[in-house]
Amino acid sequence: MNADLVVVGSGFYGLTVAQRCAEELGLEVLVVDRRSHIGGNAYSEFEPETGVEVHRYGAHLFHTSNERVWQHVNRFTSFTSYVHKVYSTYKGEVYPLPINLGTINQFFRAAHGPDAARALVAELAGEIETSEASNLEEKAISLIGRPLYEAFIKDYTAKQWQTDPRDLPAEVISRLPVRYTYDNRYFNDTHEGLPTKGYTAWLENLADHPKITVQLDTDFLDLSQPLNKRDVVGQVPVIYTGPVDEYFDNVEGALSWRTLDFEQEVLPTRDFQGCPVMNYAGDEVPYTRIHEFRHFHPEREAQHSQDKTVIMREFSRFAEKGDEPYYPVNTAEDRARLLAYRDLAKGETGTIFGGRLGTYKYLDMHMAIGAALSTFDNKLVPHFSKGEP
Ligand code: FAD
Ligand code: UDP
Repeated sequence: MNADLVVVGSGFYGLTVAQRCAEELGLEVLVVDRRSHIGGNAYSEFEPETGVEVHRYGAHLFHTSNERVWQHVNRFTSFTSYVHKVYSTYKGEVYPLPINLGTINQFFRAAHGPDAARALVAELAGEIETSEASNLEEKAISLIGRPLYEAFIKDYTAKQWQTDPRDLPAEVISRLPVRYTYDNRYFNDTHEGLPTKGYTAWLENLADHPKITVQLDTDFLDLSQPLNKRDVVGQVPVIYTGPVDEYFDNVEGALSWRTLDFEQEVLPTRDFQGCPVMNYAGDEVPYTRIHEFRHFHPEREAQHSQDKTVIMREFSRFAEKGDEPYYPVNTAEDRARLLAYRDLAKGETGTIFGGRLGTYKYLDMHMAIGAALSTFDNKLVPHFSKGEP
């Protein structure tokens, strides 16, 4: 093996580290991934019948307020001017999200201005003191009041977490944005947009360096193939972005995750729902939301089919063995196990654990990229310039 560094996982974290090490430090980097494509969960492909870019592992919207990350990512892709907006269907009626003056007025059949709406929500929320809320339901009611909670949060959250909101910790909803204007922009970040040529083209640009070699269909934990943990760790520094519990053979027990099932369908109409994401607030349907990917790229309309569209229904459930791990569940037991894995990781001096799976943290793309840049600066530069061990 002719590599100075092995990166396990070709998601944003792994490829960002690989790109920096190849370009800045001139290292030969070998990236391995157990999937048959690069890109981790941000991977996308163009659906052949409709010509529409589909995000295979769920819709990915790029947004950041981190200037360093924004400067960095713009080296590898340009961004469209897409601004994310979400709607929610509740009892056969469509409302804008996040909860804003439009949602409040439509829901209460009113024409309140900001002050009146604020007073109304404060009065409804007065039922429970925020500081006394002991679970997600109480916390949400203390922030937005019972009627809005029961309409837009209660059943959606129960579907998404497969858990009664009274059994979920209050911290899950630490903040429920309510806007007292008609602004229904979903994210508050300074920068937002979608990669002009798609996520896969962006990820391929990251890997496109003469000193980076990518080897797919290679599971680092599979000892029957040569590029494995037992034979590589200790010989060459390793950046590992797979699940931390799997790395240690689950000796402390498996960390729990939620997974998603996606049901993709091509429909014989140009436009199914008129917007990119429609949430389903009630429990009449088992899915949480439907994505219609053509709406993420209105600027590509000429390339899209004019009589077909592709949609994806999203269902949420607890992951079982073999399922894709998507969101950390983070129970008290998980947190205790994670501490034990962190101790083991400290002893594993030849390996740096990073990314969403390696740290058991939900990271947005900009956070994964920012964390990779910090690892490069704080650990890899000193290590390879022999400044520090
Ligand atoms: P990943 O992308 O998960 O990459 C890890 C890679 O490691 C995978 O390719 C995997 O195959 C590989 N791997 C694992 N184990 C092994 C092994 N043993 N051997 C070899 N390879 C291995 N972020 C946003 O900013 N905006 C969004 O709208 C957004 N939406 C999301 C929606 C969903 C459903 C999900 C799950 C995530 C979303 N994210 C979003 C988060 C985004 O996906 C992550 O920030 C990003 O994927 C993190 O990159 P990563 O490199 O840490 O991990
Ligand atoms: N949520 C909700 N109703 C909605 C949208 C979100 O109750 O229509 C709650 C739900 O508990 C969810 C959390 O807000 O887990 C975060 O939702 P968001 O869509 O921002 O997160 P994502 O699932 O996209 O990561």
